[in-house]
Amino acid sequence: MKATFDYIDQNYTRYLDFLKEFVTLESPTHEKELVDRCGEGVAEFCRKEGIHVEMTPFSTAGNFYLLSTHPESKEKPVLLLGHMDTVHPVGDYEKPVARIDGEYLRGPGSQDCKGGVVSGLLAMKALMETGCQRPVKFLLCGAEEDCGFCGEEIAAWHIKHARGALAAINTEPYSTGKVVVSRKGIARLTVKIQGKAAHAGSKYDEGISAIKEACYLIPKIESASDMQKVTYNCGLISGGTVFNTVPEFCSFVIDIRSPNFKLMEEAIQRVYDICSKPTLAGTKITVHIDGKRPPMEKTDGNLRLAAFINSVMQKYGFEEIVPSSRGGGSDACYTTLAGVPSVCAFGAYGGGGHTRNEFVQLDSIRTGAQRLAACIAALTDDFH
Ligand SMILES: [Zn+2]
Repeated sequence: MKATFDYIDQNYTRYLDFLKEFVTLESPTHEKELVDRCGEGVAEFCRKEGIHVEMTPFSTAGNFYLLSTHPESKEKPVLLLGHMDTVHPVGDYEKPVARIDGEYLRGPGSQDCKGGVVSGLLAMKALMETGCQRPVKFLLCGAEEDCGFCGEEIAAWHIKHARGALAAINTEPYSTGKVVVSRKGIARLTVKIQGKAAHAGSKYDEGISAIKEACYLIPKIESASDMQKVTYNCGLISGGTVFNTVPEFCSFVIDIRSPNFKLMEEAIQRVYDICSKPTLAGTKITVHIDGKRPPMEKTDGNLRLAAFINSVMQKYGFEEIVPSSRGGGSDACYTTLAGVPSVCAFGAYGGGGHTRNEFVQLDSIRTGAQRLAACIAALTDDFH
């Protein structure tokens, strides 16, 4: 590995320069044009580096990129995953949005997930330049932060490219000493309540308050939340028209998190059951499933890959790695679903994710690339 590690040491400033450009290309999930421009920036850099680029256009989300080394190889590839969209609307950060500040680079998406993506690309390039024949495929997504609500196509694209791969490593932000082997799935449901409007003074007794019904429903729904199992969060609510009318309409959105498919389906059914029994006579309640992202289940393959990564880390003098679980979702759920041993959160190190103080530690781009390269090089065909 010495040659590969040396290549990374000698070339990583070029990748830091690119990271600055990458962060400067702001890419909020729902601004397709901006995400696409950001993707083109990555594609252009990869072409210059000799990494093969294949773009899949998407109408509902940012275009997707498959970035590969040894694209003609018949060997089983190792997958890297990452995303280029961010949660930050344009204007969230003052210009220049990407700033070097001592040992950090600050800016939207610097840690989540652009730093990790750059680490992954540097690992691919270094392996290719130092004779590793293992093909590496980087699945770069343009709509991760929307939790998979941009359509089934996103799941299908990941699963199609994942099938038959040796292992998958997601470059989401790294927490020192941990690698994620399971994540909760997410379901988003909208509950709509129709009551009856009436004058709040003279006809109050003829009205049926949709807001009041929502106030009965929400505690019932959330009462079953259990951090170790399923949680329900009613995070958005709107209702009423004016203060002096009994509100005819109210709606709220529920975020359900579950560690497995079975509990997810049971949780959704539970919401339907609760909503089928309104407290106030005369209310009409409908429940709509807006979207779902499957859980990344803790499979034997995922645990085996985490243990393998830990052994590689020990061999090359990096820190010990333990498997962990998270409540937030990621695209590693799709590679897990495709039957590929997968781990997540093995990218760059930083902080302030999803806030205006996001940063990535510059040196973690280099060490992240070395960790990834060591793992990819150590995987052999009999692993899967
Ligand atoms: Zn992310």
